[in-house]
Amino acid sequence: MSDNKDVIIIGAGVIGAATAFELAKQGYRTLSVDANAEAGHGSTSGSCAIIRVHYSTLDGTALAWEAYHDWRDWPGYLGVADERGLAEYRELGCLVMKTEQNGYMKKHVAICAQLGIPCEEWDEEQILSRLPNYRLDRFHPARRQQDEGFGEPTGGRVEGAVFFPTAGYVSDPALSAHNLQRAAEAQGGEFLFNARVVQILRRDGRVAGVELADGRQIAAPVVINVAGPASRKVNELAGVTGDMNINTRALRQEVVHVPAPRGHFAEAGGLVVSDSDVALYCRPEGDDHLLIGSEDPPCDEHVWVDDPDDDAWREFSEQSRLQAMRMAQRVPGLGVPNRPRGVVDLYDVSDDWIPIYDKSCLPGFYMACGSSGNQYKNASVAGRMMAALVDYCEAGNDHDSAPLQLDLPRSDYRLDVGFFSRRRQINADSSFSVLG
Ligand SMILES: Cc1cc2nc3c(=O)[nH]c(=O)nc-3n(C[C@H](O)[C@H](O)[C@H](O)COP(=O)(O)OP(=O)(O)OC[C@H]3O[C@@H](n4cnc5c(N)ncnc54)[C@H](O)[C@@H]3O)c2cc1C
Repeated sequence: MSDNKDVIIIGAGVIGAATAFELAKQGYRTLSVDANAEAGHGSTSGSCAIIRVHYSTLDGTALAWEAYHDWRDWPGYLGVADERGLAEYRELGCLVMKTEQNGYMKKHVAICAQLGIPCEEWDEEQILSRLPNYRLDRFHPARRQQDEGFGEPTGGRVEGAVFFPTAGYVSDPALSAHNLQRAAEAQGGEFLFNARVVQILRRDGRVAGVELADGRQIAAPVVINVAGPASRKVNELAGVTGDMNINTRALRQEVVHVPAPRGHFAEAGGLVVSDSDVALYCRPEGDDHLLIGSEDPPCDEHVWVDDPDDDAWREFSEQSRLQAMRMAQRVPGLGVPNRPRGVVDLYDVSDDWIPIYDKSCLPGFYMACGSSGNQYKNASVAGRMMAALVDYCEAGNDHDSAPLQLDLPRSDYRLDVGFFSRRRQINADSSFSVLG
């Protein structure tokens, strides 16, 4: 490892590795430090890696639309090969059922029109032509198996949906972080694995570097917290939570994999589906499975995890089976396995489910955290934003009083980065769920 680092990045998940890549491209000498043995082996590896362009805020949508273009041309974005191969973006489109819960998607469609993002309104017939045997009875509110009336329609039908053609998923999220590591290294970035940060060093009122669990100290004038579900712990180490109006917490999530029924997703070529009537999202997994996640309805208990490093949270619970059973309301005959298969992992949730991309009250210490289960897709632009923020603040600008403005060329949109401030008021436009 060479001396004289300009920036230390804590975390080599997809957002941390993209931040390293974007900073290294700007000529910063970066060191990425991760407690795990490889890039992308934190919550990135558990991600469903769904790329979608619709969010409940204009800024959130502009960010996702900008980043979508990087997934679309992943080899071009990286500019390097990876001996393990490149992650593949599969553009299947995403179908979002119109429900009362999402305002019948009116706000999303209006935002997309404003940004020039393609979307189509589908009626019942179009939905069923693409998803034969998808039952469109309403089941809202979502329930648990033991609740009275579970599995019984509650009256009325889901009568339409919005199709977003520029959506899909990435085949291997951990590999995509490794791809970003290789791209950062090609620009001179360095990575140190099996290295846990246990102290944030300070000198003369600003950050001075990090101390690792083995006692080594590494100096740098800039340190960025991209520690995923451990972000709060790292912010506490840095002593920067005092002026944060928005905080982050780790939230346990289960994603279940079930065999895809014949004549449904698999044979129709597959789609990403978001269905707030049953409070689930799903996408194809491999050639013949469906992956099903929760959209966080009130009946799904929120299990907050104080210490992400204590692996007790990794066991499956009844939740994954419940998600499969709720999907069986939509797709009668869906196989619900007795032994759960899938993923248990952690979201790093902010108070309003919108991320924090910001500086802190400690000069030189920055944070890209609170990704709230919905920022995998935005990694490239989040990295660009963090590199621009470091430039801006280290040049003496006060981002708190005069926030950085970042041009998003594909969206022809100027993003006020203050939108992601740690000091913002809770954003009432948020869905307050994984949908962002
Ligand atoms: C089940 C699940 C499904 C999801 N689905 C989607 C989806 O479909 N679409 C989407 O856009 N987003 C999704 N997300 C969210 C997305 O995966 C995350 O926002 C993203 O992966 C976070 O990347 P990251 O780099 O910030 O964090 P992580 O990948 O968690 O990386 C953080 C890294 O920091 C390291 N670290 C932590 N503390 C320390 C320390 N003290 N010292 C050194 N290293 C440390 C960890 O080892 C880890 O490798 C999902 C998340 C989950 C959990």
